[in-house]
Amino acid sequence: MERRLFEPEHDMFRDSVRRFFQNEVAPHRDRWHAEGQIDRDIYRKGGEQGLLLMQVGEEYGGAGIRDFRYEQILLEENLRYGDSGLYFTLHSRLVAPYIEGLGTAEQKRRFLPGCVSGETILGIAMTEPGAGSDLAGMKTRAEDKGDHFLLNGAKTYISNGINGDLFVVAARTGPGRQLGLFLVERGMAGFARGRNLKKMGLNSQDTAELFFENVQVPRANVLGDPARGFYYLMEYLVDERLISAAQYVAASQVAFDLTLDYIRERRIFGQAVGDFQVNRFKMADMRTQIDIAQVFVDHCVMEFNAGRLDAADIARAKLFCSELEGRVTDECVQLHGGAGYMDEYRISRMYRDARVSRIYAGSSEVMREIIARSIGLDPRKPAPKN
Ligand SMILES: Cc1cc2nc3c(=O)[nH]c(=O)nc-3n(C[C@H](O)[C@H](O)[C@H](O)COP(=O)(O)OP(=O)(O)OC[C@H]3O[C@@H](n4cnc5c(N)ncnc54)[C@H](O)[C@@H]3O)c2cc1C
Repeated sequence: MERRLFEPEHDMFRDSVRRFFQNEVAPHRDRWHAEGQIDRDIYRKGGEQGLLLMQVGEEYGGAGIRDFRYEQILLEENLRYGDSGLYFTLHSRLVAPYIEGLGTAEQKRRFLPGCVSGETILGIAMTEPGAGSDLAGMKTRAEDKGDHFLLNGAKTYISNGINGDLFVVAARTGPGRQLGLFLVERGMAGFARGRNLKKMGLNSQDTAELFFENVQVPRANVLGDPARGFYYLMEYLVDERLISAAQYVAASQVAFDLTLDYIRERRIFGQAVGDFQVNRFKMADMRTQIDIAQVFVDHCVMEFNAGRLDAADIARAKLFCSELEGRVTDECVQLHGGAGYMDEYRISRMYRDARVSRIYAGSSEVMREIIARSIGLDPRKPAPKN
């Protein structure tokens, strides 16, 4: 299906980005997977190409491109030609917006240029051993000591946890939903990293534990109002889900394409695997579902650009695309036969990578909660009287 949302300048950008991933990322993919992390130098190279924080203003070194279609192209090309564990978009569009949106002029001046150039790699630390979906249950504490906050606690499953230089850390500053967001820098006394966790998929992505023991976070590193962190997270997580949905439908498309090639070539019982009616129908079903998902995602991208992306719409897109990616990669492994189970076949990695899409960035169950509430099914509120 021809997608109509891109202009000629987007196509030119796609070509240059594709070359970047083919030349700078693809040759290192297998090594990165074996080592369990990417080379941090790739961020600096991405910065030189102008691929990081494209949205921030020229005063910080960015290009001031607010149009999310460029980021969508970047993540589509990364999935196809780069490496799924390289998280440029998490750095640029998931974490940097907290600094851009909530940071003081001084914080932006201090931190954004390094993020644009790729010298500073970003991460966000919300999840704890005892609190993931239920963020209000977090135990990490930040006590107000006047000129600084004293941070104590532990985070886990943090993307870019090993390579990261600057983390937006959520911590409790009071009872209930009273959380603050703090900028914790590499080298701060009392800040330590734990294990680079071994995972089912996304093997080149460094997902780690972080520990904070009496870390003195200066007041100058507090983002926004230290009592409103929970509400900031709820607001910015909407953007995370747009990135997620765009990524999952793109992954479904890549899995579909490489499977189509495979089943045209592979012959059994005197015919191509793709000539069996059952397989032709499977591919037809996947083609249909991916096209429908892509239309919805592209609509969400344009709504985001127009500043009116609806939280429940993007929850539907995230839910649908992550479930789609799971079904498609599973079916595509099946169509590859034994080869699909072998690590040297890309579909095997894609299948393993896909499993987390239904868990992070708000799990499928959390998305269903948001969607159900949006249609008035909210047990916390009394039913309207007829
Ligand atoms: C590879 C990877 C990278 C990650 N990167 C980051 C990161 O960079 N920063 C960060 O802060 N976190 C990160 N996470 C953590 C991730 O966001 C959490 O794992 C996720 O939010 C789920 O939380 P949990 O693991 O505590 O599961 P739990 O919250 O314990 O969920 C357990 C089960 O309960 C379900 N559930 C939740 N709510 C409901 C409900 N209302 N009704 C019914 N069932 C429900 C869940 O869907 C799940 O099936 C990452 C995780 C992974 C695996």
